[in-house]
Amino acid sequence: MPVILPSAWQAQLSGAIRDPRELCRRLGLDDSWLPGAEHGHALFEVRVPEAFLARMRHGDPDDPLLRQVLPLAAESEVVPGYVADPLSEADHTPARGLIHKYTGRVLLITSPACAVNCRYCFRRQFPYEENTPSRSQWETSLEHLSGDTSISEAILSGGDPLAASDRQLAWLVERLDAIPHLKRLRIHTRLPVVIPDRVDDALLEWLGATRLQKVVVLHINHANEIDDAVVEACERLKAAGVTLLNQSVLLRGVNDGVDALAALSERLFEAGVLPYYLHVLDPVAGAAHFDVPDEEARGLVAGLRDVLPGFLVPKLVREIPGGASKAPL
Ligand SMILES: *Cc1c(COP(=O)(O)O)cnc(C)c1O
Ligand code: SF4
Repeated sequence: MPVILPSAWQAQLSGAIRDPRELCRRLGLDDSWLPGAEHGHALFEVRVPEAFLARMRHGDPDDPLLRQVLPLAAESEVVPGYVADPLSEADHTPARGLIHKYTGRVLLITSPACAVNCRYCFRRQFPYEENTPSRSQWETSLEHLSGDTSISEAILSGGDPLAASDRQLAWLVERLDAIPHLKRLRIHTRLPVVIPDRVDDALLEWLGATRLQKVVVLHINHANEIDDAVVEACERLKAAGVTLLNQSVLLRGVNDGVDALAALSERLFEAGVLPYYLHVLDPVAGAAHFDVPDEEARGLVAGLRDVLPGFLVPKLVREIPGGASKAPL
């Protein structure tokens, strides 16, 4: 029997830091904040791969990358309006693992896992286990796509779709490729940012093989997330014919300033990525401390327009349950 070794990225994923105390220790930080934060960690465990940790500043509790992944006591506060399923996604799942809310585009929950657990994530309370399709459930999703000619774009989402194995992804994309009315394959992922080695030959093989037009929407919130390895991963994706976009979430204490947002746009463009959306926070329970009020958000984007070319200014949007698209602010 041949031994199947995990890919380099899979080894990095399974070696990710999962202990908040270790995270602090590695950054030379005091962990006295932890007693109040245990609850958040128990609900949604810490997960930080080494490659992401390496971009954090040592000894700085306010590091913008650390703030995205470090549980705080504030997560346990009950804040009115902050709920478990702010987008009511449970109402839009015609098949397990499939969300059809917008015309022409269908979202497939391809993998429940993420390479990093972001504290502000609206999926932190999503019942993934119930939405992780087996192969036979995939067939049901694929039937839904095949049977509805109004769908032109399949969006692989999660969790992080690239946390699935290349074998599974190659199978799925081949099946999507065979649906004649599909034009585009879109992948919403943070993995090429968190573990740039994810963009390896095995991934480029199935991605390069499809006839579908390919769009990868990365998720980067701060310029410091983009190191040389991320730039190289973006270059490999572009060489495979992928259009690269980015979505960010506006987060208190991470990117809530014109300078930080402008630096992010500039750095994205250096990596060959265009800013797409800047999302205001979804009101998920446990994330209220990241909120930036709408008026302030509008002011920040107005400030960006003053200093950047128009194509580097992301669209400020909010997701509204039941809305036909993301709503501009
Ligand atoms: C965001 C989202 C999409 C994609 O919307 P675009 O505006 O095309 O980027 C599709 N389906 C769902 C359920 C979404 O949340
Ligand atoms: S879905 Fe995206 S934002 Fe949410 S935890 Fe995973 S990587 Fe982070």
